Amino acid sequence: MRNYKYLLSSFFIAMLLILACDPDDDSPDEINHTITVDETKIDRKVLIVGIDGFRSDVMNLTSTPFINEVIQNKNTYSNINHITEGITYSGPNWSSILTGVHMDKHNVLNNDFDNDNYSEHPSFFHYITSADSTKKTASIVNWIPINTYLMSDYADYAPLDYINDSEVLEHTKNLLLNDNPINSDVIFIHFDELDAIGHAHGFSGDVQEYVDKANELDSYTSELYDIIQNKRLNGEDWLFMVVSDHGGEGTSHGDANDPNINRTIFISEHPSVEFQAGCCYFSSQADIGPTVLNFLGITSTKFNESTDGVSIILN
Ligand SMILES: [Zn+2]
Repeated sequence: MRNYKYLLSSFFIAMLLILACDPDDDSPDEINHTITVDETKIDRKVLIVGIDGFRSDVMNLTSTPFINEVIQNKNTYSNINHITEGITYSGPNWSSILTGVHMDKHNVLNNDFDNDNYSEHPSFFHYITSADSTKKTASIVNWIPINTYLMSDYADYAPLDYINDSEVLEHTKNLLLNDNPINSDVIFIHFDELDAIGHAHGFSGDVQEYVDKANELDSYTSELYDIIQNKRLNGEDWLFMVVSDHGGEGTSHGDANDPNINRTIFISEHPSVEFQAGCCYFSSQADIGPTVLNFLGITSTKFNESTDGVSIILN
């Protein structure tokens, strides 16, 4: 049983003290963890678009025109050498993206999710709702294990029925446009069909099927970005991200030493936030969690002690 005490530390800053009071657990690590909430940022919102199996060099003017345009924006962090985990399967990488720690901590080393250590290193969504229980989160995925093993424990809405990528798009539009089934503040979505096409035909800009699917998901991402832009015009403050778990070579992505596999994309876009320079800071999967929490003005000492990533936000 834990008690939560709230302290206001300034006019704008609310501090949430989490005191562990379990008489059976007097570990010093569990005592006096705090979550600080910056009230000027907590109303912000986030959309993270996950695209499974996105090989960086497929991105160009013709195959992914929208994403290619976004990375030219002045206020965008973009990295086409985004570093994957040392095991280049989907399970370890989506786990790192969604927990903010590397695989030696979350312990998901394959796609079976056996022996995970999410109890010690939960999704960073956990810290959002711990900081402010009114914040609502959603996870809409094609590859269901992400929700089954990880996000269903931490997101307010994380459906477990199989849906294809176009249905992921429709579900997300329904969330954003109609607040159906919930009014979400932080949304993670996952498209899986580019990875499936890569396994079937090849992960390459020379493979027409792979290029066509990348182009289709690029248009889905563009549709969602247009919705976010309209929401910004209506006064909502959204961070927009695109991230992938790994690239590919031939019809697989198991060789962790292949730069076509162990490098992928991470893009973070906002009208005014200042990011690290894409030229000079090379992000890893563990950076997504710290960046989102930083954007929302949430500082958790427990998360900060465990995370392997850093926020790419400078201001
Ligand atoms: Zn994958």
